[in-house]
Amino acid sequence: MTANSIKIERTTAPKQKPDENQLGFGKYFTDHMFIMDYEEGKGWINPRIIPYQPIMMDPAAKVFHYGQTVFEGLKAYRAADGRILLFRPEQNFLRLNRSNSRLSIPDVDGELALEALKQLILVDQDWVPSQEGNSLYIRPFVIATQATLGVAPSHNYHFMIIMSPVGAYYAEGIHPVKIYVESEYVRAVRGGTGNAKTAGNYAGGLKAQEEATSKGYSQVLWLDGVHQKYIEEVGSMNVFFKIGGTVYTPELNGSILDGITRNSMIQLLKHWNVPVVERQISIDEIYEAYTNGTLEEAFGTGTAAVISPIGDLYWNGHQMLINGGHTGELSQKLYDTLTSIQQGAQEDPFSWMVEV
Ligand code: PMP
Repeated sequence: MTANSIKIERTTAPKQKPDENQLGFGKYFTDHMFIMDYEEGKGWINPRIIPYQPIMMDPAAKVFHYGQTVFEGLKAYRAADGRILLFRPEQNFLRLNRSNSRLSIPDVDGELALEALKQLILVDQDWVPSQEGNSLYIRPFVIATQATLGVAPSHNYHFMIIMSPVGAYYAEGIHPVKIYVESEYVRAVRGGTGNAKTAGNYAGGLKAQEEATSKGYSQVLWLDGVHQKYIEEVGSMNVFFKIGGTVYTPELNGSILDGITRNSMIQLLKHWNVPVVERQISIDEIYEAYTNGTLEEAFGTGTAAVISPIGDLYWNGHQMLINGGHTGELSQKLYDTLTSIQQGAQEDPFSWMVEV
C-alpha cells in the first residue's frame, strides 16, 4: 500500500472555527479524520481521509468489552513563518506499534501513518492555531471492531487519526502544581501494560485522580505496584527530580511509559552537560533529600504541558514544599528551550522537527 492510495473526500460543510482564546483541551475537532481498516488475511486496507463524523460500531465490538485499543498523542505547531511543524512524530508511531504488540494488535506501517497524518494536516491546515502557545493536538488510535464476545485478539480493527486545536496548557506560563503521592491505588504492575498507551491504564487511574482532586491536589504521583515504594510517573507524565545538582528520573522498567518528552529532556540535559541519571528512585529517598535540603526541583514531562513543575508533594503525612513552591531555574530553561524548538523559534540541534 502506498501513500498515493490514500483517498480524500472533502467536507462540503466546513465547521466554524473556535475562538483561539477559548480552545481548552480536546473540545473541538477539525473538519476531517483519517481512517483505515484491518481485516484478517487482507491486512490494513482502504486508507482514507473523510469528513469528521461518528462511526458505526456493532455493540459486540471487542473494544467495548475487553479494551483492546491503543492510542497516541502528539502536536503540530505553527511557526512564526507559517510552517507547520510536528515534534518527533516517527517516535509516536514507533511507540504505537510497541503498544500494539503488547495488546495483540497488528502493526501499523509507521511511514504510511506519518504520510496519512501529513496529508490530513494539509487538508485541515487552516485548523492549526497560530496564537503563541496554541497547537494542534493529534490523536492516532486503534480499536478492535470484531463483533464477537470471545476473549481473543480481534480479527478486525480501525486505525484512525483525529485532531483538535488546543490552547496552551498553562495560559499564564508554567506554574507549580500540588501532587499527592498515591499509597493505595497503583497504575501498573510488573509484566502488566504500564508501558503501553492503552485505555485500561487510564480508566484504572481515574479513581485515584478523582480522590486526589477532592483533596485539593492536581495529580497523583504513582508508586510501583510491587513494593509501593519506587516512583513511577506523575498523572500522565514522566517525572524528574533535581537533587544536589544531578537530575534523576525513574528508569524504564516496563511499567512506565517511555515518554517522548522524557527522552527529549534527557537529550537536552546531556547536551548541556547537566548530570542526568535514569535509575530506580524510592519515595523515601526523595523525602530524605527534602529533609536534608538537597531536593532542588521536581517536574513532570509530557506532550500536553511539556513541563509541569511540582511545587508541593504530599506523602504519608509529610508536606514537601519544593523550591519554595516556585518554578525552578532548570525546569524553566527546559520548558523555554523545548517550546521554542517546537515552535520553530530556535535552532533544532537534534533535528526533531518534521515539516508538514
Ligand atoms: N506517561 C503517561 C502515562 C502518559 O500518558 C504520557 C503522555 N503520553 C506520558 C507519560 C508522557 O509521554 P509523552 O512525553 O510522549 O507525551
